[in-house]
Amino acid sequence: MKFDNKEPGKRPLYVYYIIVAVIIVLLNFLVLPLMQSRNIKTTDYSTFLEGVRRGLVTEVTVDSDYVYYVVRSEGREAYCRTVRMDDPELVDRLDEAGVSMEGTAPQRQSIFLSLILSYVIPIAIFVLLGRWLSKKMMGSMGGGPGGMMSFGKSNAKVYVKSSTGIKFADVAGEDEAKELLTEIVDYLHNPQKYAEIGASMPKGALLVGPPGTGKTLLAKAVAGEAEVPFFSISGSEFVEMFVGMGAAKVRDLFKQANEKAPCIVFIDEIDTIGKKRDGSGFAGNDEREQTLNQLLTEMDGFDGSKGVVILAATNRPDSLDPALLRPGRFDRRIPVELPDLLGREEILRVHAKKIKIADSVRFDEIAKAAAGASGAELANIVNEAALRAVRDGRKFATQADFEESIEVVIAGYQKKNRVLSNKEKLIVSYHEIGHALVAAKQTNSAPVHKITIIPRTSGALGYTMQVDEQEHFLMSKEELENKIATFTGGRAAEELIFHSITTGASNDIEQATKLARAMISRYGMSDEFDMVAMENVSNQYLGGDAALACSFETQTRLDDKVVQLVRRQHEKAQHILEENIGKLHELAKYLYEHETITGEEFMKILDAPAAVLPENVPAEA
Ligand code: ADP
Ligand code: MG
Ligand code: ZN
Repeated sequence: MKFDNKEPGKRPLYVYYIIVAVIIVLLNFLVLPLMQSRNIKTTDYSTFLEGVRRGLVTEVTVDSDYVYYVVRSEGREAYCRTVRMDDPELVDRLDEAGVSMEGTAPQRQSIFLSLILSYVIPIAIFVLLGRWLSKKMMGSMGGGPGGMMSFGKSNAKVYVKSSTGIKFADVAGEDEAKELLTEIVDYLHNPQKYAEIGASMPKGALLVGPPGTGKTLLAKAVAGEAEVPFFSISGSEFVEMFVGMGAAKVRDLFKQANEKAPCIVFIDEIDTIGKKRDGSGFAGNDEREQTLNQLLTEMDGFDGSKGVVILAATNRPDSLDPALLRPGRFDRRIPVELPDLLGREEILRVHAKKIKIADSVRFDEIAKAAAGASGAELANIVNEAALRAVRDGRKFATQADFEESIEVVIAGYQKKNRVLSNKEKLIVSYHEIGHALVAAKQTNSAPVHKITIIPRTSGALGYTMQVDEQEHFLMSKEELENKIATFTGGRAAEELIFHSITTGASNDIEQATKLARAMISRYGMSDEFDMVAMENVSNQYLGGDAALACSFETQTRLDDKVVQLVRRQHEKAQHILEENIGKLHELAKYLYEHETITGEEFMKILDAPAAVLPENVPAEA
């Protein structure tokens, strides 16, 4: 019964228990005393004494508060009570008048009535409520296993139009995805328009893209735009302890959806249940396979023209079972990619609406510096900027806040307590300037935005933020080579200045190798292998693992090629730095002293006429 919808009669069980308890309490404290007091007359003490004196009182019972008595006159009896007074002579007086005192409390009402009120009615209420409740539950069980009420019941959340409050306007960028989804919303609003032409909507659409790009957000926006019920459930919620329960949940979900049609069913992270079924024969997958089979069956089973549309989201489309993707099931794929420059700016603007910002904030600059960030990361950047403003006691976030928070989100928090020795700082300065100088001297490379040597929690000692002036999706061979040269530039500077090497270049080495390998094995950028793919990429949205697809001999040759390629670029970087050693010293000195150098400062120093060659070549070397 984990329902979220507002339908009456589907409230949680405890609500009914509370109602019953309240009824019983009311009966006991209000109704019963009311009925009792109707028959009992309250008199004052003197009236009572008068009655005793005149011999009209026949029975008396005393409790701590009241004196109850029966008055008999002219053949009729009346039940009365009076507030008990501190009257030591009362017993004597009653004795004199010959009133019986042993009598029980005067019968205020019939035994029968009190029996009904205090026992029969409450029990009847319990029994009726119990019956009604169990009928309700059975009704929505949908043929699931009868005895166990909480199993096999889908806990999909049902949203109605207004409840998510998220609209397409809240999703920035992602125009293609929005367009495709708008069509589905339109179909649900007036299916006749489509039926007239004979077009039928795809039964299912699959949102695919890297994590944090707004897939879940888009689905919620569909719910907000479409004025139809929206069932939302995550793939992991189908995973159950007992075999068969997941399948029962799927059945129940689709049964509910069919009743509510037209409606939308959204299954988030569908790869949890939709993984490829393999023939390896391990028994452990039984439950998952059954669930998947049930899903496939249900998707075939329902009538597409009834207006049930199934949305699903995943960041691992390649791991999905092919049966899910065939026509008639999730035959429409909606790519939700990382945002481009404009998209990033829009996303920043959407989220910045929620915080106070200075007028001078330039979103285009921030978007430029946050290349490759996903929507979720951008949302995080905005929030970090606001947090920073609060920390510094300002009323609004400034450009500096945003720039700092980009670094925080992308490179980890600034570590204030981690100090580098001066020697280390010097090495890091030369290393980072080495990267930047090599990048700047190669015409095709992007200029740097900012370099800092303040250590980050992520482990990087220095950090060079590169900015691509324009987004580009095609990279030429030269550009890739220059990139590799830039990666090797840090190490090259260390060698040139200190004649020794450090461990600081491990990440550079990794990246340079990856790029060089991809150039040869995937992009066909070597003479020897021409356009033959040596690797297959799987999991393109989650890091892109590559699997070699060639013979061992070829692998050896490929490794050789990679080494040659990187070495050539390394030599090129060394050459560039040797030629510009004056600038290298100048820039590294600046960075060492200021700990941070912006792109503008960097270019100013680089473009300035060469200063006199400084003699203070580091003595430590
Ligand atoms: P996923 O693709 O992993 O499902 P989500 O939809 O959960 O990503 O996105 C997480 C958060 O990131 C959202 O709640 C939203 O704040 C932000 N976000 C992601 N993409 C966008 C976008 N295109 N526009 C606005 N905000 C976005
Ligand atoms: Mg998600
Ligand atoms: Zn480096």
